Amino acid sequence: VIAAFLRLGRKYEITQLQAEAITRLRYEFPASLEQCEGMVDYSMVEEDRPRAALVFEVIELAHEHNLRHLLPWAYSVCCHHLSFEDIFGTIGLANGRCIRLSSNDLRICMIGWRDLVRVQTKLPFFWLSNDGNPTWDALVSACSSKRRCIAARQKLRDQIFAHGEAPKCCALTFWNAEWAVDMCSVCESEAKDMHHEALVKLWHRLPTIFDLPQWDKLHAE
Ligand SMILES: [Zn+2]
Repeated sequence: VIAAFLRLGRKYEITQLQAEAITRLRYEFPASLEQCEGMVDYSMVEEDRPRAALVFEVIELAHEHNLRHLLPWAYSVCCHHLSFEDIFGTIGLANGRCIRLSSNDLRICMIGWRDLVRVQTKLPFFWLSNDGNPTWDALVSACSSKRRCIAARQKLRDQIFAHGEAPKCCALTFWNAEWAVDMCSVCESEAKDMHHEALVKLWHRLPTIFDLPQWDKLHAE
């Protein structure tokens, strides 16, 4: 529906239609970390179809209408939520049209997936590393239950990165309060801060990971 509004809006220069469609897309495919944190998936677009159909359409629209600021999150959704079968697949839309990613979009998704997986244990989830992590070394005296907190992080690390299975892309996962239940409050607060600071850094790099210009340039388009 949004695609149709955008196309109609452009064809007949109905700016109100277009503005409404763009507002909804901007909400669902945010271009700032703050918007991402506050966003509820699928609350501004129709949800009765596979996620891949929506994301593929948004990527296509973003190219067609020069809305490239939607792309970093759209590619991230592919990397986080779609299987490789989905990413390389073809999807039938309700209007009978079939949609698939272009070969360039496929290349971007694959390289982006690899880079996100490569960086996720070093950036957003670095707080799960007990060894060689200067923050935990510095906290030795402040942490009231060192052994328990270290074990909690080790357990989480195995859970989140599904030890022994094929790697999962989860680089842009926001803080989950459940992660902290087995840690002391000092460690919880440090872990939360480390996670957030790392997400800020990763967000800054996100467009480059997907072969796009920096955020300021995307916002200016
Ligand atoms: Zn602790």
